[in-house]
Amino acid sequence: MSQRGILVVVSGFSGAGKGTLMKALLEQYDNYALSISATTRQPRDGEKDGREYFFVTKDQFQEMIAKKQLIEYAQYVENYYGTPRDYVQKQMDAGKDVVLEIEIQGALKVKEQFPEALLVFIMPPSAEELKRRLVGRGTETEEVIRNRLERAVKESEGIEEYDYVLINDDIGRCVGEMHQLIQVQHNKPANCLELISRIRGELKTIAK
Ligand code: 5GP
Repeated sequence: MSQRGILVVVSGFSGAGKGTLMKALLEQYDNYALSISATTRQPRDGEKDGREYFFVTKDQFQEMIAKKQLIEYAQYVENYYGTPRDYVQKQMDAGKDVVLEIEIQGALKVKEQFPEALLVFIMPPSAEELKRRLVGRGTETEEVIRNRLERAVKESEGIEEYDYVLINDDIGRCVGEMHQLIQVQHNKPANCLELISRIRGELKTIAK
């Protein structure tokens, strides 16, 4: 309904399948743009600079913070991650719904700045399944996996702050539900300000 794109924040424990879900969402629908974050972590095998992330040094990251180029940033298991402002604004202005796949501290900062944003938390069907996926991915050491599971315990404390929870047991169903939630979010008054103001203006004219 609204002309301008909306902001969608997607979080979930490491291993919950957010990446796969986002990829499927973008393949199936063409009105979404995925924000590419900046991070100080090392690229994993197969990751490419400018595609999964902008891989930057700590100094470069500090500079981005100083120049207010990030909408939000957070530390996650010893590395920094942040959302570049420019791309998000441009895509929203062009009418695209922009998806930020970020962790919980960043998500809550986005909510403060953009109360009209949609916050969705992706859950695995069970904790056991989450561990199985993390181990099965084969890209992280045992220590990193342990850190990420500990982090998941902490993150689970903040889930009530989100607008919706989705269970990622069937990727097709989960993608469909995510799309529906985003569509409905467009109809929130806070995301229809232009329309509301236009009709209000027309009503005033007509009622004279
Ligand atoms: P990973 O190292 O597995 O790619 O990402 C680790 C965590 O950082 C994930 O929970 C991911 O959602 C989060 N993350 C990625 N980019 C950003 C960002 O720009 N800001 C914040 N706050 N978290 C991010």
